[in-house]
Amino acid sequence: MYLERNDKGWNIMGMRVEKQTTLADSVTLNGIGVHSGGPASITLHPADANSGIVFHRSTKDGYVETEASWKEVTATSLCTVLGDPHDSGISTVEHLMAALRGMGIDNVTAYIDGPEMPIMDGSSEAFVEAIDRVGLKTLSAKRRYIRVKEKVRYVSGDQWCELNPFDGTRFDITIDFDHAKIGRQQLKFDLTPEFFRDEISRARTFGSVQDVEKLWKLGFAMGSSLENSVALDGDRVLNPEGTRWTDEFVRHKSLDAIGDLALAGLPILGEYRSYKGGHRMNHCILVELFKNPDAFEIVEADVALEERYAREKGHAELIGGLQAAAFGPEVS
Ligand SMILES: [Zn+2]
Repeated sequence: MYLERNDKGWNIMGMRVEKQTTLADSVTLNGIGVHSGGPASITLHPADANSGIVFHRSTKDGYVETEASWKEVTATSLCTVLGDPHDSGISTVEHLMAALRGMGIDNVTAYIDGPEMPIMDGSSEAFVEAIDRVGLKTLSAKRRYIRVKEKVRYVSGDQWCELNPFDGTRFDITIDFDHAKIGRQQLKFDLTPEFFRDEISRARTFGSVQDVEKLWKLGFAMGSSLENSVALDGDRVLNPEGTRWTDEFVRHKSLDAIGDLALAGLPILGEYRSYKGGHRMNHCILVELFKNPDAFEIVEADVALEERYAREKGHAELIGGLQAAAFGPEVS
């Protein structure tokens, strides 16, 4: 088990959990959109407790607000899109969402000047650096979690994914590509800011040259280049620097899963497993979860953790019992 109590409060897997966090200051990232190829910039601002991650996108009629929620997902084929894809939607939110969840940030207001997140180098590294630049601020409100109580599973052909009850936040991601450089790769880990920063955040998106050429003809991936993706051609990696890890591919799929599951709105206490998953599967498991009110509950950090700490220590009695939080199940 990963719990320890210290003078700062409860820790789970090294992450301060007892209070919600936001950024200590505003920070801007500039880059290009991978699909439009045009300039894209985003500014992240500190936000109040319980506000979650909220995007404000500029349109000709002013800013349109979109919650970073699975309920706002409107497309998952090339990337995860929130909101109306023809008007005020925002594409490719997953790498920012992964950085925010991976680094343990609960509340941010993001202003974005166009339809797409900047792709940066195709990983979450620039977002982590931006977060590090301004630092985190601890808020007075307790962190809330979605705790998985019952297994939920989604199957599509030979792809599957599931959420299982688990005392922590664990990912177990398997990919299987018919490609000499990829093949079958599996990564299983407990999510901590340290693990995310060191082992996940720098893993870049990837694709075959042939697929990119097809997308170009359709007007997509116009900004895609060796600067922001690992390009595969036959059994070769075209990037002169090669891959950052031999299993960079499953690490990136893990990054995407962290970002997509962050659209649950709160951190998940549970184990997410997926086989041949992707944005669509990651979205479908959240739909499955929230369809079934018996499968989850919302708990506050210290209540959930004290109960589990007591169980770890072999106490028969719960400390204060386990309570559903007082707020309504707005995510159901
Ligand atoms: Zn990705």
